[in-house]
Amino acid sequence: MEELQTQFKIWEQPAYRLTQLLDWIYKCRVTSWEEMTNLPKSLREKLKENFTLQTLALVRKQGSRDSTQKFLWKLNDGAMIESVLIPATPALYGEACDRHTLCVSTQVGCAYGCKFCASGLEGWKRNLRVEEIVDQILATERWNEAKLKIQDSKPKTESDSRLVNNLVIMGMGEPLANYDNLLKALKILNAPWGGGIGARKITISTSGLAPQIKKLAEEPLQFRLAISLHGATDETRNKIMPVNKKYPLRDLTAACEYYEKQKGRMITLEYILIAGVNDALTQIKPLAQLAHRLHAKVNLIPYNKVEDLPWVRPTEEAQEKFLAAHEREKVIATLRREKGHDIDAACGQLRLKTERQARETFATATK
Ligand code: SAH
Ligand code: SF4
Repeated sequence: MEELQTQFKIWEQPAYRLTQLLDWIYKCRVTSWEEMTNLPKSLREKLKENFTLQTLALVRKQGSRDSTQKFLWKLNDGAMIESVLIPATPALYGEACDRHTLCVSTQVGCAYGCKFCASGLEGWKRNLRVEEIVDQILATERWNEAKLKIQDSKPKTESDSRLVNNLVIMGMGEPLANYDNLLKALKILNAPWGGGIGARKITISTSGLAPQIKKLAEEPLQFRLAISLHGATDETRNKIMPVNKKYPLRDLTAACEYYEKQKGRMITLEYILIAGVNDALTQIKPLAQLAHRLHAKVNLIPYNKVEDLPWVRPTEEAQEKFLAAHEREKVIATLRREKGHDIDAACGQLRLKTERQARETFATATK
């Protein structure tokens, strides 16, 4: 944005030209400079020489109409990333879903190598650029618009055509390891001239980069924070999350406490349940202590099997036991109960659990 502003000044363009340009990009979501018909041709030529407009091409989409959709995007350098679109309201009675969450990627691959995760299996390739993060939303909305056109129900107002109103930064990669690009992208997605998505509707999930959590706490925008905890003691966490060696629970907790104090917002502790690894009831006391200290809620997610990895989810009975133990400790906890992989039905019934579905769906998609 600043870059565009500066460039427009150098080119001696009046301020309204920038507004026109931003409308074309973020409201009309055009994919070529030629379509910006109210900009002078000479300006369009200059823009074309200096800026890239579209960065993602749809390679594949999975999912049926009005349910969870997984998008596989190809970047300009050929790398692939995914985003997952989850409707938050049921389409059980044929009505359109009016609220959608998009699970967004921030890196190609991941360097953090959590033992259970598919994203890190092939290592880290690179950070996503700002426009590659932003375009996941724009490209998804373009897809939606094209779909509506086919159905002959072209959106009438701008807000009709807006599809994504929640973001979970839980796709491939460690968001806080691509801090600067992520923040720039989120500011664009939050701005009224950009994506118009409220900061409170944006959840950033991290494996626990303590210094960056503190930095995020200093940001004026009120993003929600989710911590991939997955172990309530250093011993358990060390076994599955190498990041814990760098930022052990003491550091992570201090950073979360700081975030919670600065923002006054409830943090979510994500806890995937892996049989025989982190589901022992001995985890409950330390987990409850942590949750109380941070005023956090706990999301329990049965592990989603990843090909080539040995881990499995605990039995339903063991999952329920783990949940019940939280309730006894007066911790706010939820368990995602899902029959098989019937994610679409879960979307309809479990509106509040959208975030967890995003992660679960994404893990399946990146297998
Ligand atoms: N790197 C960030 C965000 C991306 S991962 C983070 O770790 O938080 C998003 C979430 O999916 C994390 O909570 C991660 O632990 C979880 N996850 C990864 N693999 C999973 C699997 N196989 N089953 C269920 N959740 C998984
Ligand atoms: Fe990376 Fe998050 Fe997967 Fe860990 S859980 S490997 S940090 S994407």
